[in-house]
Amino acid sequence: MGDGVSIRCSNCQNQEDFGIGSGMTTYMPFIKHDSRFGENSEVRKAIEIWQNNENVRDVCSYQLCVCPECKRIKHRLYIELFLDKKLVFQSNYICRKHNNAMSWIKDPTVSLGDNCECPKCGSHDLLCYDNGLMWD
Ligand SMILES: [Zn+2]
Ligand SMILES: [Zn+2]
Repeated sequence: MGDGVSIRCSNCQNQEDFGIGSGMTTYMPFIKHDSRFGENSEVRKAIEIWQNNENVRDVCSYQLCVCPECKRIKHRLYIELFLDKKLVFQSNYICRKHNNAMSWIKDPTVSLGDNCECPKCGSHDLLCYDNGLMWD
């Protein structure tokens, strides 16, 4: 079961909700058939590795990430693939606008880091909290 988090701007009160973590649909057999990822090259790369090696284990979850230029929070599928307990793949998304690697926000309710901005007013005064909503 995944968790819901809300990110609220203390300046303009804009609020966004995101589902993060792992759920029923964040496993490779589901991801492989999920048409939403059809165009996503990071996900396609992971599927290819996973399909070509039956010993690969996948750990997938939805996480938040941020481009250091846009400073807008994005919601992306984070995939790690392990072979013999060694990490062989980790998804890293590129911001299409700025051609930058986006950085993952590991534990948003603890800290969003200094890089995030409100999409409405540009304030850095953002608060992230667990909104109690579950998803799968
Ligand atoms: Zn960007
Ligand atoms: Zn704002």
